[in-house]
Amino acid sequence: MKKKIPRATDLGGDAGGEPNPAQSPGSAADAVPDHVQIQTITGCNGACIFCPNGKTRRKIPLGQRMAPDLFHSIVDQCLELGIRRYSVYLMNEPMLDQDLPRRVAYISTRIQKPQYVKVTSHGGLLTESMAKGLLDAGLDKLKISVQSLNPETYRNIMGLRLDRTLQNIDRFLEIKQRGGYKLPRMEIVMVDSVQTRDEIADIRRYWHQRGIKLYVEPVENRADQAGIRKTAVGAEKLRAFSWCRRLMEQIYILYDGRMVQCCADWEQQSIMGDLRTERLADVWYGPRYRQYRRRFAAGDVHGMICEDCRKQRPQHKKSLREEVPKVR
Ligand code: SF4
Repeated sequence: MKKKIPRATDLGGDAGGEPNPAQSPGSAADAVPDHVQIQTITGCNGACIFCPNGKTRRKIPLGQRMAPDLFHSIVDQCLELGIRRYSVYLMNEPMLDQDLPRRVAYISTRIQKPQYVKVTSHGGLLTESMAKGLLDAGLDKLKISVQSLNPETYRNIMGLRLDRTLQNIDRFLEIKQRGGYKLPRMEIVMVDSVQTRDEIADIRRYWHQRGIKLYVEPVENRADQAGIRKTAVGAEKLRAFSWCRRLMEQIYILYDGRMVQCCADWEQQSIMGDLRTERLADVWYGPRYRQYRRRFAAGDVHGMICEDCRKQRPQHKKSLREEVPKVR
């Protein structure tokens, strides 16, 4: 019988939060998974300067889709494991997958609170039909990455058109309101970079007026990804992760069923298992994962991709999350 340990979420930790005193190396090895990210299609049509997409040394095939049977088997195994958060994206733009609403529906019809299903996207492909599909599919949370409200800065950072994204968001909110849908809750996310820090107050006001919560995330070097060393410039100095929920409680599955250590592993250097031939529980509680978690908790990361992984330290919790009175 595995010993149940507190999840980092219970303790208010985050991906790069402070050391978690409840987790000794031994108990970290037994950590219980809480989140899953599933890549149902590869690639992204954006070009964010802080994202390794299109800049990896390893050639990543574009437009490769996860087979429905594999997807269903993964979700079923996650349900058995008691996973709470289902994120239908990983190192990609999930709306490239026309089957996204069907995938979301497969999850939403099988979970119950506090479980939820979430999509994070750049919003440029949030067409009318995708919007209706996701609303009908029972999506719980839709997070859109909007890095600036200045069209030129936005294009320079993301390689996309701001007017199109904002129109997509407005249309989505309109369809949602007209159809009387309660969910998904929409959130906006941006990165606190040298390019955007001065705009954050105005951007926050803009979304606040629409009753939408803005999240400001720290810049990361994605396990020291060479392609973004010069462009992912934080507004503050980047520091080593003192604790990492990604390793301790999150599962990351590529389109072909392979499991990577975390969403920073764009070069696929740290493959933890392969769900075409292995069971998810066997991989998560298997010797490799257990050893990695134990070593991270002991501060022994030499040779792991964590060794050079850095992120900007959030200034304080309030600067990351702003409570707004009414959320659509
Ligand atoms: S490389 Fe290690 S420290 Fe960095 S995000 Fe992944 S698990 Fe966390």
